[in-house]
Amino acid sequence: MRYLAMYIGTILRAINSLRKGMKLTGYYFSHHKEIVTQQYPENRKEMFIGDRFRGEVVLTHDENNEHKCTGCSACEIACPNGTIRIISKFEIDPETQKKKKAIDEFVYHLGMCTFCNLCILSCPTDAIVMSKDFEHSTYDRKPLTKILNKPGSKLMKGVE
Ligand code: SF4
Ligand code: SF4
Repeated sequence: MRYLAMYIGTILRAINSLRKGMKLTGYYFSHHKEIVTQQYPENRKEMFIGDRFRGEVVLTHDENNEHKCTGCSACEIACPNGTIRIISKFEIDPETQKKKKAIDEFVYHLGMCTFCNLCILSCPTDAIVMSKDFEHSTYDRKPLTKILNKPGSKLMKGVE
């Protein structure tokens, strides 16, 4: 008798749970504007991504293909897992004719990045930022290793 009561109680609880679920589903059927779930990827153009979302480290360039990276390596040192490698070179400053350190390649291994933001915080010239781009899935790891300085780019004037 005790087991029969437990059995019936379980069935009643299941029916009640189903009723609650169906009630909520019915509510959202009639209140479309309150639905918070986004239909990805159909909503790519109008999708909301929070300001603090961290998708990828990028080196910003202006319209003259100039960046603010001096090659100081502070970001490389700050990175806890070797995601960044700064390869620098020396160039002759056309104005002073003195040797000046410059970035040759800014290597970024996106597949290793934990998006901790430490590199961004360590940069003295605000040369790097976090982009909101998150569509990084690939069948090949090679594209995940990126050279962040664009071909032919150079250091912005006035940035030391
Ligand atoms: S976000 Fe963190 S893990 Fe990624 S490159 Fe910067 S310091 Fe390294
Ligand atoms: S991105 Fe910033 S911290 Fe990293 S090497 Fe360039 S200037 Fe230095």
